[in-house]
Amino acid sequence: MNLKEALLETYKCSFCGECERVCPTFTITYHRDHGPRGRIFFARLILRGERGFKKSIIEPMYTCLLCNACAFECPIGVSVPEVMRVLRSVIRKGKIQNLLTQGLA
Ligand code: SF4
Ligand code: SF4
Repeated sequence: MNLKEALLETYKCSFCGECERVCPTFTITYHRDHGPRGRIFFARLILRGERGFKKSIIEPMYTCLLCNACAFECPIGVSVPEVMRVLRSVIRKGKIQNLLTQGLA
């Protein structure tokens, strides 16, 4: 999945929250930021170039266990773990500031 595909994947999410009850990090923390819905929301903001490297936004990308439970539960089949993998790559390479110039915002 590339950056554009990851952004399109975030647009598939309707934020229904169906996936939260199967997410291990959400069921432990009960914090929306650390569930799939919150992660997709933040991922969309980052990929649109609307948020930078703020710790509270970046941290949920790394607390995801990439277990795929949310993707199996999602009625639309949103692949949160694949989006998280892309985001981690973006963050690692410090590419967020370049997203606007790539026409993804
Ligand atoms: S990822 Fe799927 S199940 Fe989870 S909030 Fe988005 S649309 Fe709903
Ligand atoms: S892949 Fe990440 S967001 Fe999805 S259920 Fe697992 S820990 Fe939660």
